Amino acid sequence: MANQEGIGAQVQINDLLILAAERARGYVRDVAERRVEPSKAAVTALAELQESFPQSPNDPGEVIAKLDQIGSAATVATTGGRYFGFVNGGMVPAALAANWLAAAWNQNAALRVMSPIGAELEEVALRWVCEALGLPPECEGGLVTCATMANFTALVTARHALLARAGWDVTADGMFGAPPLDVVVGAEAHASILKALSLAGFGSKRVTIVEADGQGRMRANKLPPLSERTIVCIQAGNVNTGAFDPAAEICKAAKEQGAWVHVDGAFGLWARISRKYEHLTRGFDQADSWATDAHKWPNVGYDSGLAIVRDGTALRASMGITAAYLEAGSRREPMHHTPEASRRARGVELWAALKSLGKSGLCSLIERTCAHAQRFAAGFREAGFTVLNDVVINQVLVSFGRPEVTREVIRRVQEEGTCWCGGTVWQEKTAMRISVSSWATTETDVEHSLRAILRIASECPAI
Ligand SMILES: *Cc1c(COP(=O)(O)O)cnc(C)c1O
Repeated sequence: MANQEGIGAQVQINDLLILAAERARGYVRDVAERRVEPSKAAVTALAELQESFPQSPNDPGEVIAKLDQIGSAATVATTGGRYFGFVNGGMVPAALAANWLAAAWNQNAALRVMSPIGAELEEVALRWVCEALGLPPECEGGLVTCATMANFTALVTARHALLARAGWDVTADGMFGAPPLDVVVGAEAHASILKALSLAGFGSKRVTIVEADGQGRMRANKLPPLSERTIVCIQAGNVNTGAFDPAAEICKAAKEQGAWVHVDGAFGLWARISRKYEHLTRGFDQADSWATDAHKWPNVGYDSGLAIVRDGTALRASMGITAAYLEAGSRREPMHHTPEASRRARGVELWAALKSLGKSGLCSLIERTCAHAQRFAAGFREAGFTVLNDVVINQVLVSFGRPEVTREVIRRVQEEGTCWCGGTVWQEKTAMRISVSSWATTETDVEHSLRAILRIASECPAI
């Protein structure tokens, strides 16, 4: 028999979920039309949140109303179609809706016994990801927060595998006194690789840096001598230019010497799903490990990093833990594949996004965003501005002249609010960086954004 309090709580949670859904629907409805960077007033209003810790309960309905009132206005509209910052993806509708259901489930995806659905969806989604990326079906992987953690997970696994081959158990005996390993990175590697190397005990400076070309591609003919004690970190999709390292050549050279090749493919690896980009992505399947993000190009929503390793035994040897009460079942156990134990069931949104898109939907998302990037590049060139990179996928770097001018254009574009683009310095040249990474971007969004940027650029020529 339910007591009064229990019934009351049920009624309240029902109303609360309806209230939250209404407010979320309002946000989704308006996000495509609103300014992309939040207004100064909305950001200033965040100060209202700096109150002292409430000493007594507040009505949950009022909590949610306040969250929407102050919070929604102070978000960056990354899920609309005119956000081109960093390489931040949007979120496909199925992922958003699945996220709501998953929140109601509140599953801990550490072990299968804690969440059969969490474990099952991870397994299925990982298999689909390997198929989408054209990676060997025997690969195993873990669902982590982001590409930085995925790089870390893969590099710790590489460390374990190479040292095991040298007769050293790094997982038990640590790095002190271990046979030294060499690490090779390209001159335009993403900073997260260096962070992951430092976390994994390699040190971010104790690396051999290989010269890169004008697009940021590692020069394969400049590789140092490799051995079975070398980890070579290559890149699928430079965060500025979108360029791909020559994976086929590098993997061949590495394989001959028994070196380990790790791929940072945070977004670029997804281009492998399209036949159009086959020429760029050739050879990446020959590597030993891969890091990627499903919250970038596939629009799965945060947070959704993936570490994938060819040698599953090495992954489990470096990530698995044993404790009497954590006995693994006979099937894949999520927590033996990641640094984390307790965590949310990330596989839910990943599965829902991939299930709703299918192979052709994902391929069309990738190709559509690349076509939008081409349109941006053409628009800038027609207006007489310099596009600094070969626009091979979804990344465009444009200069509006002297560095101060480009920086001012970026500042004004962000402030004006039609769209949002960030800045970068590419091989000593200051540039605006446009990353078309959202499923929601339409041709109209691109035309509006292009017009706004060109108008602003024409208004500030004389700085
Ligand atoms: C975005 C990116 C990263 C880092 O991704 P996070 O998910 O933010 O950790 C690493 N490498 C490349 C090439 C990237 O584009």
